[in-house]
Amino acid sequence: MPLLVMKFGGTSVADLDRIRNAAAKVQREVERGYDVIVIVSAMSGKTNELVGWVEKTSPLFDAREYDAVVSSGENVTAGLMALTLQEMGVPARSWQGWQVPINTTAAHSAARFVEIPRANLDQKFGEGFKVAVVAGFQGIGPDGRITTLGRGGSDTTAVAFAAAFDAERCDIYTDVDGIYTTDPRITSKARKLGKIAFEEMLELASLGAKVLQTRSVELAMRYKVRLRVLSSFDETDESSGTLVCDEDEIMESKVVNGVAYSREEAKITLVTVEDRPGISASIFEPLADAGVNVDMIVQNISEKNFEDHQGSVTDMTFSVPINQVERAKRAMEDARAAGRIDYDELIVDTEVAKVSVVGIGMRSHAGVAARMFKALADENINIKVISTSEIKISVLIDRKYMELAVQALHDAFGLEAA
Ligand code: ASP
Ligand code: MG
Repeated sequence: MPLLVMKFGGTSVADLDRIRNAAAKVQREVERGYDVIVIVSAMSGKTNELVGWVEKTSPLFDAREYDAVVSSGENVTAGLMALTLQEMGVPARSWQGWQVPINTTAAHSAARFVEIPRANLDQKFGEGFKVAVVAGFQGIGPDGRITTLGRGGSDTTAVAFAAAFDAERCDIYTDVDGIYTTDPRITSKARKLGKIAFEEMLELASLGAKVLQTRSVELAMRYKVRLRVLSSFDETDESSGTLVCDEDEIMESKVVNGVAYSREEAKITLVTVEDRPGISASIFEPLADAGVNVDMIVQNISEKNFEDHQGSVTDMTFSVPINQVERAKRAMEDARAAGRIDYDELIVDTEVAKVSVVGIGMRSHAGVAARMFKALADENINIKVISTSEIKISVLIDRKYMELAVQALHDAFGLEAA
């Protein structure tokens, strides 16, 4: 039997009506001849509520009990979905993580998959069950206790099952009808993409497009799982949504396929640090030890500084998530107090945003950066920090110009027209 994985996010199973609506989509695929593994999230808002209860009960909670509580939302939806399908005459059975079993690492609240043995589900399919409804976001650790995968983890559960069961495709049903060239709330010119390459989706996912959990895209890319993102609220067919797939499957591609943004950025500059071997390590090691996620980094020797100082000095600028600024500051101050680094001043700018253009076509096209910078210059937007990768260029700018920048870049790269 060909097999499909269908994942329904929180808004798609928010109440009994919506569960029925989702179940009807599952029934249709069963009628087309598929065995289906359905992965469900908790009803929307449920996980937040459970997390809130845990934090209220025990601010420094035991992560094992956090997982015990927070995983329960998915159990409810899995059972309800199986019941709904049975009422429709579709033979279905629900599965919690430990029953499959979904074996994970011991890292409670941030567990990773180790193995998903097929035997139990295969046996049930062999007995004539057409649908296995699996609770997303959870597994079982080596200690025999329930684990969870980190927020948004049901996407990753879905991809892991698609890989383990050689699914023809992994359909992610959500509240948007696909992946867009940029956020349609920022420009009405945003266009839905028919296909997008894994690498591009990975960049867009980690750059703040919140449709898919980043890890799910990593996993899909590694195991070449074709992922489809589509709306559970629309009538859908074979061609609905956006297919996230290998770049070989994409015939026509633009140089840039998406513009992403992130508001939650801050820029930190250490003014006049020594310019000597080892200085970067002695700045970024304490940041890493403090759990700060440094993103962009700029170091450049100013000739002026060079003349003013005895030795050689430099400024070091880096960006961090805005909610990690205090932690980063503390790490730097402690490193200075301990004599590991020295600097004249630490400047924090929390009024910045990151805007990025993404496209696999950049690998073979020159001049993309120039075009991007020209478009920003035409809008009088000053660039504070630049970073690039093979298929992405990101700039840090004043947050107040973020939307303008996204619109200007969307226009400059001709993303509106198919
Ligand atoms: N319910 C979990 C969350 O809200 C997992 C998921 O839905 O992906 O994070
Ligand atoms: Mg989600």
